[in-house]
Amino acid sequence: MENIGSEKVIVIDFGGQYNQLVARRVRECNVYCEIYSYKTPLEDIRKMNPKGIILTGGPNSVYEAGAPTATPDLFHMGIPVLGLCYGAQLMMHVLGGKVEKAPEREYGKTKVCIDKPASRLFTGVDSKTVCWMSHNDYISRVAEGFEIIAHTANCPAAAAENEGQQLYAFQFHPEVLHTVQGKLMLHNFVFGVCGCAGDWKMEDFAEKTIRELREKIGDGKVLCALSGGVDSSVCAVLLSKAVGKKLTCVFVDHGLLRKDEGDLVSGVFGPDGPYDLNFIRVNAQERFYKKLAGVTEPEKKRKIIGEEFIRVFEEESKKIGKVDFLAQGTIYPDVVESGLGGESATIKSHHNVGGLPDFVDFKEIVEPLRNLFKDEVRKVGLHLGIPEALVMRQPFPGPGLGIRIIGEVTPEKVRIVQEADAIYREEMDKAGMNKTVGQYFAALTNMRSVGVMGDERTYDYAIALRAVNTVDFMTADAAEVPYEVLKTVTSRIVNEVSHVNRVFYDVTSKPPGTIEFE
Ligand code: GLN
Repeated sequence: MENIGSEKVIVIDFGGQYNQLVARRVRECNVYCEIYSYKTPLEDIRKMNPKGIILTGGPNSVYEAGAPTATPDLFHMGIPVLGLCYGAQLMMHVLGGKVEKAPEREYGKTKVCIDKPASRLFTGVDSKTVCWMSHNDYISRVAEGFEIIAHTANCPAAAAENEGQQLYAFQFHPEVLHTVQGKLMLHNFVFGVCGCAGDWKMEDFAEKTIRELREKIGDGKVLCALSGGVDSSVCAVLLSKAVGKKLTCVFVDHGLLRKDEGDLVSGVFGPDGPYDLNFIRVNAQERFYKKLAGVTEPEKKRKIIGEEFIRVFEEESKKIGKVDFLAQGTIYPDVVESGLGGESATIKSHHNVGGLPDFVDFKEIVEPLRNLFKDEVRKVGLHLGIPEALVMRQPFPGPGLGIRIIGEVTPEKVRIVQEADAIYREEMDKAGMNKTVGQYFAALTNMRSVGVMGDERTYDYAIALRAVNTVDFMTADAAEVPYEVLKTVTSRIVNEVSHVNRVFYDVTSKPPGTIEFE
């Protein structure tokens, strides 16, 4: 599945924090794009026959000994190169310009003045445009043959080009959304300079992958663990379309899923669903509850759930016997994160419940989503006709509600949090908040307090509602959910869910809080 698109752009990774964003932006132009480490031999890059190369930012200073570097040949292959931040500095450094510590560092949204509106990268770009800066060093002299095409108050060479050689350098980060016209600039590079056609489409990806899986698997047997999440669902449907009944999906219901979620998964993948495959649902709720009885420590709970999951999966796969392939829903960020620049072949276990079942007797792993970003996986899923409820599902932790119940997990507490969460989600959806808020859920605090209901004293649990907006899950802000919505949710939960007499809304950001509670 290596040569997905006929044309591609290569991102060379110098350790910048936005490297994956660069690739995503290029793919948003319908051009296939892959990320490679700066250590990748130039010969290998050349063989990939890229239409263009983008060098990312990075934490180092190009003039330091031992800083990541590039050979001058990279810039003389006749392939257009765009350097971003560190990449721009490196281009100048390697080609004879000068980079030094800036008298004044630039960080944040910065006004950039375009000096050469006729540059191919600036087609349609305003003469003054806000860009995202994040640098300590600056290009104090551009290399020979280069012309400065933009500047800022503190940065004389905010952008430079050598048009004849198709070399371009941006000190700012066009891949970050704070750079207002960044997408347009990248679009200009990909189409205007590299001459890409933009024919990378998710529909084609799906058809091609199905064909390739069919060829690879032949008469072999495939085993896939379904979690009900986006990645494993899309993975299973691709495989089912490729090899039908040679695929067996095992779905372990650990009793910590959200309300009705187990039935949703069974409805889609079970015998009454539209897909041709063997589906095994293991109702292991009791097993998990028993193991979790009396356990309050979050890490211990996670471990128990993860291990028990593996045990159950193991028992089921033993019944199936030898399989040829184990399918995993690994996606591109997992691949990239498993080694700088995604050059590493390390296979990171995808299932967030608890690693690879190492006892399963299989020959090879298949990972059909290995080259896709999450939003692309979703697009494939929708194209394949998987219900939106599965495809657009919010991130859900592997240990499930087990870590949204603070303290000991009991069947009763699972019921409470399931009901409260279902009400919360329903009301948020009704209010259209599903379009504006990234992620929201209810958790059960371990706190009980006194209340009064129907003139009677109660001593019941408090539910915590959480809603966050996050771009990358590393940081998050509490969402400003309208008070009206919170009031409706609170009154419904207190009325409809027995043993809850209080509802809190969590306004903590991450950091210092986390998105989940445990
Ligand atoms: N480390 C370099 C600097 O400080 C490049 C920074 C970057 O790529 N964001 O200028």
